[in-house]
Amino acid sequence: MAKVWVLGAGQLGAMLQQAAYPLAVEVTALPPEQEALPEIAPQDWVTVEREQWPDTPMTRHLAEQPGFLNRDVLYRIADRLYQKQMLDELGIATAPWCNVDEQAHAESIHQQLGEDVLLKRRQGGYDGKGQFWLYQDQGDEIPGDWLGAAIAEKKIPFTEELSLIGARDSQGNTVFYPLTLNLHRNGILMASVAPLGRVAALQSQAEAMLGKILDAANYVGVMAMECFRVGDTLMVNELAPRVHNSGHWTQAGACVSQFEMHLRAVAQLPIKAPEVRGQSVMINVIGIERNTQWMTVPATQCYWYGKDVRPGRKVGHININHPEKSAVKAALADLRPLLPENYGEVIDWVLEHLP
Ligand code: ATP
Ligand code: MG
Ligand code: MG
Repeated sequence: MAKVWVLGAGQLGAMLQQAAYPLAVEVTALPPEQEALPEIAPQDWVTVEREQWPDTPMTRHLAEQPGFLNRDVLYRIADRLYQKQMLDELGIATAPWCNVDEQAHAESIHQQLGEDVLLKRRQGGYDGKGQFWLYQDQGDEIPGDWLGAAIAEKKIPFTEELSLIGARDSQGNTVFYPLTLNLHRNGILMASVAPLGRVAALQSQAEAMLGKILDAANYVGVMAMECFRVGDTLMVNELAPRVHNSGHWTQAGACVSQFEMHLRAVAQLPIKAPEVRGQSVMINVIGIERNTQWMTVPATQCYWYGKDVRPGRKVGHININHPEKSAVKAALADLRPLLPENYGEVIDWVLEHLP
């Protein structure tokens, strides 16, 4: 049986394991802190479910394996400075930016990037952590410990946020899911809608961008490209070289989920353009206890990650999928009273964008 070792043992690793079963691929998710090191055969594959990892005996062991995929590009993408340089080198539109070096001054950064600038730590940021807004009219200064450890980005007055999930196999074939519309609040993904007829016109532009990145990196597996839509053009916000939260809807809404697609590519099984079925919506469950009543709502799949509940922490997600949009809307109506009040705004946003 083909064996795939996954660096990282969070919910993404668990969902890769779930997807592996029908492929008869054995997936083992490995926490970076685990002390017992597995014996990995030369023909086994090693992939990742996280962008950053601490330097531990386990992560060193995994990175040394001959089957460790995408080594160079993983290291580049893990550092926003190198990621942005890579996008610039490839001529891919991205938010204008500059490096925040040890000598950086707010004044010169505003001169270059405008009044409102978003500082992002080069490493380790996720769910909007590791961000700092620098407002010229408030006279904000760059915090000392961000000097030499961050990039600065121009504030993009985007219309909306879209992401594209794509996969590439080792022969260079690429496949893509339809663009996904995403709602973020406080830097964290709240909900996704896909497919969406009105953004179909942007699909080929998005595929050309991500296709170029995948090819340039000789990448194998699933990669997500988060974009801002400004008018009719897309601008890359960031890349995630792994399965991605905005692709969770594919578990319900595509014949091959992003998790299975990743494993197919990694384990040298055929990939194919995923047929998409019906309308999908994904609602993230953030920082709240599970309500088992969610499980009674028609047209839903409920994922609960079994993590401790903490404010702002992703602890589960609910996929809604149905051939009829009216049934998706009915599911949202059923869920509304079963979710905390702050989800009212999220459900309203989804309804507003459901065609
Ligand atoms: P993730 O959990 O997706 O990895 P992250 O912490 O890596 O998040 P980003 O994706 O870079 O952070 O930013 C989070 C959100 O902040 C974006 O989805 C967007 O809503 C907002 N944002 C990021 N960059 C900009 C920008 N240049 N202008 C305006 N808003 C931005
Ligand atoms: Mg990120
Ligand atoms: Mg992001």
